[in-house]
Amino acid sequence: MVKEIQLRIKLKEEGNTPLLKIKAARVLRVELNDITGVKVLRKSIDARKPSIYFNYKVAVYIREKMPETSDYTFQYKDVSSAKEIHIIGFGPAGMYAALRCIELGFKPVVLERGKNVQDRRKDLKAINQDHFVNEDSNYCFGEGGAGTYSDGKLYTRSLKRGDVRRIFENLVYHGATEQILVDAHPHIGTNKLPKVVTNIRETILKYGGEIRFETRVTDFIIKANKIKAIRLLNDEELTVERVILATGHSARDIYYLLHKKEASLIAKSFAMGVRVEHPQHIIDSIQYHCETERDPKLPAASYSLVNQVKDRGVYSFCMCPGGFIVPAATANGEIVVNGMSPSKRNNPYANSGIVVEIDVNKDLPKYERFGALKGLEYQKNLEKLAWTSGGRTQTAPAQRLTDFVEGNLSSSLNDTSYQPGLKSAPLHSLLPKLIGGKLRTGFKQFGIKMKGFYTSEANIVGVESRTSSPVTIPRNENLEHPEIEGLFPCGEGGGYAGGIISAAMDGERCAEKAVSGL
Ligand SMILES: Cc1cc2nc3c(=O)[nH]c(=O)nc-3n(C[C@H](O)[C@H](O)[C@H](O)COP(=O)(O)OP(=O)(O)OC[C@H]3O[C@@H](n4cnc5c(N)ncnc54)[C@H](O)[C@@H]3O)c2cc1C
Repeated sequence: MVKEIQLRIKLKEEGNTPLLKIKAARVLRVELNDITGVKVLRKSIDARKPSIYFNYKVAVYIREKMPETSDYTFQYKDVSSAKEIHIIGFGPAGMYAALRCIELGFKPVVLERGKNVQDRRKDLKAINQDHFVNEDSNYCFGEGGAGTYSDGKLYTRSLKRGDVRRIFENLVYHGATEQILVDAHPHIGTNKLPKVVTNIRETILKYGGEIRFETRVTDFIIKANKIKAIRLLNDEELTVERVILATGHSARDIYYLLHKKEASLIAKSFAMGVRVEHPQHIIDSIQYHCETERDPKLPAASYSLVNQVKDRGVYSFCMCPGGFIVPAATANGEIVVNGMSPSKRNNPYANSGIVVEIDVNKDLPKYERFGALKGLEYQKNLEKLAWTSGGRTQTAPAQRLTDFVEGNLSSSLNDTSYQPGLKSAPLHSLLPKLIGGKLRTGFKQFGIKMKGFYTSEANIVGVESRTSSPVTIPRNENLEHPEIEGLFPCGEGGGYAGGIISAAMDGERCAEKAVSGL
């Protein structure tokens, strides 16, 4: 017999594994010896009050053998001589599209403009140290896409759109810790992600798929409303039948290309703002009600904040406890910040995007002439402004949080995790009022919700501009572009995902549609 129950464990009891069994026996009123195993299904922390608890959901096996491994299997086929599906982009959407093609018996041919995870590291170093952005290999472009050198937080709100568990199990199959199957807020960490991505590549190659790195797609050959070929940067042309377009939200050249070809695109609302960085101990002391260091059994504390400022949502985005702020630009002449953290989340800083909703239908009258690309052009302008005010390198414009809200230029800044460095700038007057004004009110309100959050010990860093795609590439019920047969817009770049898991799920879904009828 297997029974699922909830258990509450005090902080001082945490880590005492036999205790789960003892408590389960007590709750279920069974003999301790009759319990053959206790499997943790879910684990979360309840730190709402000073006495902190861990909530466990467990499956208790009573006089029945507990299975040692998961019953999930992935049946990959040899596809070396199967029909080809072309996939542009090897981020989470492209990777999971490729894996699904192999399960379904089709050969994925992946074209990725960036380098493999190992070679990509040198280009990240060049951004951080030399302020040089390789436009094909950076924090967004390259093997694993924007998901590789990311935080690897794995929660998603799009539970309805696919089988989330399947993606988690697949990540574990490819080397991620099993802990992600259990944690309420699962996280892999930037130091562990490259290995998982490498293992996914190896599966694809082992079963006969093809991956071409440093291969940028520059054109689509469309005849009679059907995609016929793809042109590469070296002018090579590949004949294609079905193409999954998973190029991510930073592939602006792809949006421009489709726009030039008069393929329909739709301007999409998105959010923009800044990244705020606190010393981690401040966030710990607020969230865990402690005056000194957090208990070593507790992870670096996180937060999730949202407030309505007039008609607009202002909210925290991609909060990275114990993490780093990273330069996520994809071209020189722009500053884009984002965040990531290692698996242990043991860096002394906590950072998070704090962003304002931008309504493309109301907020950008001066950009109307750009049509569907108006949000993209607005985003570009703000990134350029950050670059100019940061000193025309990857050094980012920054301000103490309290100075930003009170409208003062900071005479000095706090220490930061952002490697290219910070430059004091009057972001309160530089940012458009729509963003700056709402952020200033939002930060004050957050300080009321979380006492200690509003502090001069925090910096704000500009700009957090790429929270999601400013463009939707439309698709019909078959997930094809309505005017280009055979082209399947996919993942975050299409406007159909907002993170690693939702992009992976969309990749699987597009693969299923792309192979049908072939
Ligand atoms: C620093 C950072 C931290 C993040 N942290 C998290 C997190 O913790 N959790 C989370 O869920 N999400 C996080 N994200 C967001 C997440 O990475 C993305 O939502 C996700 O990667 C989108 O997947 P995708 O496959 O749709 O696109 P992408 O990951 O953007 O991949 C697109 C790929 O297409 C390639 N490409 C683009 N144009 C071309 C072309 N013309 N020819 C060939 N290839 C091309 C690119 O090189 C890239 O590899 C983070 C992002 C960043 C930058």
